[in-house]
Amino acid sequence: MEKIQTSAQILREISESQCCFTDNFRGFETVDAVRRLFGEKTAQVLKELKVEFTHDTIYMRVTDDGRLLINPDYFQTGNPTDIYLDIIHELVHVKQVFEGKSSNPKVSYVDRPLEIEAYGVTVNEAKSLNLSEERILDYLESELVKGADLRKLCTTLELNPNFSS
Ligand SMILES: [Zn+2]
Repeated sequence: MEKIQTSAQILREISESQCCFTDNFRGFETVDAVRRLFGEKTAQVLKELKVEFTHDTIYMRVTDDGRLLINPDYFQTGNPTDIYLDIIHELVHVKQVFEGKSSNPKVSYVDRPLEIEAYGVTVNEAKSLNLSEERILDYLESELVKGADLRKLCTTLELNPNFSS
C-alpha cells in the first residue's frame, strides 16, 4: 500500500450527503500547495467550503457557486492518493471560482487553461510527494483523460513517463 507523506487526513465515512469540507478532510490548511492558493484565508476558506456527495459527478467537480461535489462510490472505493490529489485539483477550481473564472465548454477538456492550471498544481504536489512519473500518469488517466488527450496533457505538463500501452 502506497503511503504518502502529508499532514492531511481523509475520513471516508459519509454521514450526510451535504456537509462541510472539514467534516471529511482534515489538515489541508497545513498543506503548502493549498496555502499557496488561499494564503492567510486558507483555514477560513476550507471551513466555509460546502461538500455534497452526489452521483451528479463521476469523480469530483466544483460548481459555479463554489461547492465541491464528490461521487460517494468513488470517495469510498477510490485510491486514497488519487483522492488526495483530486482534492488539491478541485481546490484550485474553488480558487478560480473566487476569481470569477469559468471554463469555455467548447474548448476540449485538456486544452482548458483552468484545467491546465489545476493539473499543474496537482502534478507539482504529486512530484513533491515523490510519486514517479508513471504513477502520475496512472493518476492522470481517467474516463475524462485517455489516449491522445492523456499524451497531450503530459506534454503540456512537461511529464515524460513511459507509456506502457
Ligand atoms: Zn478540473
